[in-house]
Amino acid sequence: MVNLLNFNQPQLAQWFAKQGEKPFRAKQLMRWMHHFGVHDFERMTDIAKVLREKLAMEAEITLPHVQLEQVSNDGTRKWLIGADTANSIETVFIPEDDRGTLCISSQVGCALECTFCSTGRQGFNRNLSVAEIISQLAIANRSLRQEAGYDMLPAGERIISNVVMMGMGEPLANYDNVVTAMQIMLDDNAYGLSRRRVTLSTSGMVPAMDKLKEDCPVALAVSLHAPNDALRDVIVPINKKYPLKELMAACNRYLEKAPRDFVTFEYVMLDGVNDTVEHAHQLVDLVKNVSCKFNLIPFNPFPNSGYGTSKANHMRVFRDILMQAGYVVTVRKTRGEDIDAACGQLAGKVLDKTKRTATRIAIEAI
Ligand code: SAH
Ligand code: SF4
Repeated sequence: MVNLLNFNQPQLAQWFAKQGEKPFRAKQLMRWMHHFGVHDFERMTDIAKVLREKLAMEAEITLPHVQLEQVSNDGTRKWLIGADTANSIETVFIPEDDRGTLCISSQVGCALECTFCSTGRQGFNRNLSVAEIISQLAIANRSLRQEAGYDMLPAGERIISNVVMMGMGEPLANYDNVVTAMQIMLDDNAYGLSRRRVTLSTSGMVPAMDKLKEDCPVALAVSLHAPNDALRDVIVPINKKYPLKELMAACNRYLEKAPRDFVTFEYVMLDGVNDTVEHAHQLVDLVKNVSCKFNLIPFNPFPNSGYGTSKANHMRVFRDILMQAGYVVTVRKTRGEDIDAACGQLAGKVLDKTKRTATRIAIEAI
């Protein structure tokens, strides 16, 4: 049976057309499924009873199973969501005074092996479907709606104001499904988020960045983490394929269509690895022709990572060098640490198909 959560509005209209139904049904369905969070065809009152019965026979609106929901002391929430019997992914909601941000996963694991990332350590199983990606928003909405005492969200109301594609996986490595899911996020009949409030974070897959700028130019964050190729080759290995010069040029091309007039460079602060004064100066030089802001992320440790978090005074000096060079710099607050919901700690459950974990465990045992 077809899961209607896999379709954006034009695809749903096509599906209805094939059933001999009017395309405007797609708009109604999108509103019920996504805006109101109603998944039972019976409750879709502006759809004729005969059509509701037909829909129930031929289609389903099915969310994946929530295996665990945890709430941190600071209000951060994490959902462990079953992708299939062997695999689970994680989704995190971060409440702040002026916004509510949902951090969404795009893959089960990640194939890219950044050395400081817990998801990368776990290996890779598969891409998430459109339904599995957008369901994370639907599941979080459902839970937050219930918490706020609503059965159905009033028209126009929104609890989640921002989405960041910064959970498990490299979103641009699951390009088609991620773009379709983001189109649903932006659809006024679904979640109605503006392009400025949806941020995709990439480790720097240059050709896909060029494609994204044409297909769905949302706000862009780039995981830089090193100011020179020699270091970035080691900690963000995709750099060997798309080195810094190419990455900087791709950022500039993206800015032609970006909803904000800057790219955010994420930079995880690893003690003694990438956090010296020299690194800060190299960084200023590297980005000199790109309109950008910086987001420094204190490294969040996980077992056997082999890395430490930069010392507070080193982080301060590093930040000040960037600020003195005229850049806006934010230092990411670590949220939800008590429930392992912080950046880079998302682990879920990954049945590794790459055999990477087995190899590492064997090496560690020597
Ligand atoms: N794959 C994408 C998006 C997911 S990771 C990317 O790499 O951009 C989201 C951010 O968390 C990235 O900047 C990533 O490098 C960072 N991150 C990964 N592991 C981390 C850790 N242990 N501590 C802090 N940040 C981490
Ligand atoms: Fe994958 Fe991003 Fe982790 Fe690198 S940092 S391994 S690209 S999830």
